[in-house]
Amino acid sequence: MDKLKNYIDGILTTPYSNNYINNYDPSTGEVYTMLPDSDAEDVELAVQSAENAFPKWSALSADRRADHLYKIAALIERDLEKFAYAESKDNGKPLQLALSVDIPRAIKNFEFFASAITQFSSESHHTNSEILNYTLRQPFGIAGAISPWNLPLYLFTWKIAPALAAGNCVIAKPSEVTPLTAFMLSEICIEAGLPQGVLNIIHGYGHKAGSAIVSNPGIKAITFTGGTKTGMEISRIAAPMLKKLSLELGGKNPVLIFKDCNYDEMLETTVRSSFTNQGEICLCGSRIFIEKEIYEKFKTDFVKKVRELNVGDPLLEDTNVGAIVSEQHYNKILYYIDLAKKEGGNILCGGESVELKGRCNNGWFIAPTVIEGLDYKCSPNQEEIFGPVVTIMPFESEDEVLNMANSTEYGLATVVWTSDLSRAHRISAKIQSGIVWINCWMVRDLRTPFGGVKNSGVGREGGLEALRFFTETKNVCIKIS
Ligand code: NDP
Repeated sequence: MDKLKNYIDGILTTPYSNNYINNYDPSTGEVYTMLPDSDAEDVELAVQSAENAFPKWSALSADRRADHLYKIAALIERDLEKFAYAESKDNGKPLQLALSVDIPRAIKNFEFFASAITQFSSESHHTNSEILNYTLRQPFGIAGAISPWNLPLYLFTWKIAPALAAGNCVIAKPSEVTPLTAFMLSEICIEAGLPQGVLNIIHGYGHKAGSAIVSNPGIKAITFTGGTKTGMEISRIAAPMLKKLSLELGGKNPVLIFKDCNYDEMLETTVRSSFTNQGEICLCGSRIFIEKEIYEKFKTDFVKKVRELNVGDPLLEDTNVGAIVSEQHYNKILYYIDLAKKEGGNILCGGESVELKGRCNNGWFIAPTVIEGLDYKCSPNQEEIFGPVVTIMPFESEDEVLNMANSTEYGLATVVWTSDLSRAHRISAKIQSGIVWINCWMVRDLRTPFGGVKNSGVGREGGLEALRFFTETKNVCIKIS
C-alpha cells in the first residue's frame, strides 16, 4: 500500500514516529493509502527549515516570488486530471466537480495571489510639509495553515498561496481525512524548484500534528478553516501566545426566497446551493425560508428536482451526489436526520442512506434529504449538519424571516431571492452574515473579502484582506528637515 510522505526542507520524508494512519476511499469504504502520523518533532523540523529559508525567500522581489507561484499553478494545470481523480477518490466528490471546480480553483489561487502581490501597495500620509508617514507591510516569518476535508486542495491553496506571495514561509497541514492532493502538491513544489523550506507540508491528526503547529512558538500566525469547536480550541492555545489568527469556521446558512423572485432561476440554483458536493460546502444553504404564498408550489417543484439527482459512483459522469467523506461524518448526518424525525420533521424526500451496487457497495452514501415541519429553533435547524440535508420553512413577513435567519450562532453566508432592489439592500444590511448573495450563489471574485461573523469566524481572507493578514504593518514617520 502506498505511504504518503511529509514535505519538509524541500524533500519527502517519513514521519519521526514512523507511524501511519489509514486513508479511506469513501465511495468503497476501503483503505487505499496511508499517511504519516506526524507529531511535534516533525513540526519542529519543518519550523527549523522554514526559519532557514525565510531570509532569502522574503528578500526575493515580489515578481520572483510570483514566478514560483505561476510555475506551481502551471504544473497543477498540466496534471489537472490526475489531481481531480485523486480529489474525487479521497473525498467522495463527483469527479466532474473536482475537474470543473476544485482543481481549477486551486490553480487560480496560485495565479491570483501571484498577480496580487505584484499589485500590492501601501499607504503614505503627508501630515504637513515637514512630516511624511508611510506604511511598510512586511512578511512576519512563518505561517501555520490548517485546512478541512470538504474542498481539500482548493482551501489548502487558498491559504498557502497568499502566505507565500507575501514573503512568508509556511507549515501547512491538510485534513487527515483527505491528504492526497496536498501530497501531490509537495511533489509539484519539488518539480517547480520551490526553494527548500519555503513550504512544508505535514500530515497527521488535528489533535497531534495540527495542535503542534498551533503551539509551536516559531510560528507567528495561524490561518485555519474548519469547525467552530476546533477554531475555539486553536484560539485557546494561540491567543495567549499572541499569534495572529484568521479563523474561517462553521455555518448554518439561510436562503430567503420571496415570491417576487425569478422563480425558475431560483429553483435551479437552490438545488445546487443545497446539494453541491453532498452539501459539504461551508457556503451551502441548509435552512430554506419561502414566502408563504409560494411555499406549496416551491415544495412540490423542489422535491421533484431533488428526487432527480443521481446519487452514485463519484467517478461516473452522470453522478450529481457522491459519497460522504467518512464513516464518522456519514453517521453524524444520519444522526441529525433521525433527530429531525424525532423533533417532528416530515421527510419529503431522502432521509436515508443509499446502497449502491457494484464497486461502491460498501461506500457511504446518503440520499439528498428535504425536511419540513421543524421549528426554526430546534437543533437540526440550529446546528451545522454539513451534509445533503435541508429544511424548508414558510414565512409571512420580512421581519419574521430576518428573525428566523439570524437566530443561529453562525453567520457565514446568506442567499436572498427577490426582484425588489430596496428589499435586497435592506436585508443585506440587517442580516448577520459575512457574505450575502442576491439572486445567485457561490459566485466568487477572489478580490472580495471572505469570512463570517458570530461563530462563523474571525478575520477575513481573500484579496487584499489576505495579503494584509500575512504581513506585519509598520508605520514610518519621517521629519523632512
Ligand atoms: P475540523 O475542525 O474537524 O478540522 C479542520 C482541520 O483542523 C483539519 O485539518 C483537522 O485535522 C484540524 N484539527 C482538528 N483538531 C485540531 C486541533 N486541536 N488543533 C489543530 N488542528 C486541528 O473540520 P472538518 O475537517 O470536519 O471540516 C468541516 C468544517 O469546516 C465545517 O464546520 C465547515 O463549516 C467548516 N468549513 C468552513 C469554511 C469557511 O470558509 N468558513 C469552509 C469550509 C469548511 P484532522 O482532519 O486530522 O482532524
